[in-house]
Amino acid sequence: MMPSSLILFIPLSTILLAFVRCEDQQSQLSQSTSLLVDQLDSEKLFRTYDQLRDTVGDFDDVAVELFEHHDHDELTQLLTNYSRQYPNITHLYSIGQSIQGRELWVLIISDNPREHELGEPEFKYVGNMHGNEVVGREALIYLIDILCKNYGKNEYISRMVNETRIHIMPSMNPDGYSAAREGDKSGVKGRNNVEDVDLNRNFPARFPSHRRKSSGKTVQLETAAVMRWLQQYPFVLSANLHGGTTLVNYPYDDSPDSARRREPTPDHALFVKLAYSYARAHSRMWKPGARCLRPELNYERDPQLGIINGAEWYPVAGGMQDWNYVHTNCFEVTVEMNCVKFPFARELGFLWNEHKYSMLAYIEEVHKGVKGVIVDKETQKGIANASISVGRGAKIISSAEGGDYWRLLNPGVYQITVGHPHYESQTATVNVTKDAVVELNFALNQTTSTDSFKSEFGALIDQSTTTDASPTTASSIAVIASTLVSRLIASHV
Ligand SMILES: [Zn+2]
Repeated sequence: MMPSSLILFIPLSTILLAFVRCEDQQSQLSQSTSLLVDQLDSEKLFRTYDQLRDTVGDFDDVAVELFEHHDHDELTQLLTNYSRQYPNITHLYSIGQSIQGRELWVLIISDNPREHELGEPEFKYVGNMHGNEVVGREALIYLIDILCKNYGKNEYISRMVNETRIHIMPSMNPDGYSAAREGDKSGVKGRNNVEDVDLNRNFPARFPSHRRKSSGKTVQLETAAVMRWLQQYPFVLSANLHGGTTLVNYPYDDSPDSARRREPTPDHALFVKLAYSYARAHSRMWKPGARCLRPELNYERDPQLGIINGAEWYPVAGGMQDWNYVHTNCFEVTVEMNCVKFPFARELGFLWNEHKYSMLAYIEEVHKGVKGVIVDKETQKGIANASISVGRGAKIISSAEGGDYWRLLNPGVYQITVGHPHYESQTATVNVTKDAVVELNFALNQTTSTDSFKSEFGALIDQSTTTDASPTTASSIAVIASTLVSRLIASHV
């Protein structure tokens, strides 16, 4: 913040001009986001609440008795019950304990819940990272409920469970939750963990000097558990559920100079598509204008659209979504579920109805783009840690243990280059369409020297560190083993 003595020397006209410029810039940024949304919308990439309701069809929805708040013991009991009642499609595990010793539970829902199936993407939802923002926590319980109850009965849900490994963590901050109180509209009691650290500021930051006091001095147990978790599973897509307003924000959360302005990732259009897929399927999140149903909860500087770049909204250093994007293969967005952080239980049914199709539609996004398996041409064994690059300077991802990979992409034509220090690189051109994931497999030839990898891939790795979206210059070598366009999870409108 600027010292007040300095402000006295700045002419009023300069201040006014700066203010006007700032407002102009804000409207331009908003406009460009809405233009991009319009463009993606014209490609029919988004579905509305009503369209999703038709696509999903009839299903056994959450029973009214469940629309209650559940403390840690009740949550533990509920998750245990689901895992016992639906043992074929669930697997309950803990990624560690909070500082006060509460388990950080995750329930997997999938047709083969105890193992990673080659080619099947792993998805995650994380709720209640801020302990007093509780709607995500409860909504995740309701999501578990409908996925379990309707498996084998509703076609849409059955396909989703069969084709996706869905990890659901209702609470990342159970200690904070235990201090939070029902009825808290916009408070902070219970937001942080028991060491008073804001877990969404506690991850290693892109710009460490931007960390604030609330980031804490050390990586907290809850944060470390999540970081380990991301090394254990090849997550592809994720959402982190918060509360305080109604929108979706996406990386980056921080800019090099910590300024409040748009800081797009090289995958900006993809993040806009992912975020708006959630917002558009919500009953009102997508609508321009004030974010809250209760006018007293609207802030003047709140975004007026249902989605926003994190740094454009307000810069955050050490947030979880940036860490996911920079350090893992997982693309994560942050959903602000509603304006009241800890609403009274009587509001939960209404809130679930607003969000249920968004939560399903967002999971489907894990099945869009390109996926495949990278194998050794001679042995046909999968190659782990191969690098997969998209020819637009975008993020480079790596293959999982079995050689399988997933690269989320918007529709378009891309050059996919695969490389590994012990293999010759390959490049293929692929046409990604709207609803289907394109399967693209690679069989790589071993090389005796690492020179070819260095020459082919060194340039790509350099490119990936910039935000320049220029086409890759890596030469195309061979073509792929097979390309086949396959199914998506639902038959869309
Ligand atoms: Zn939050």
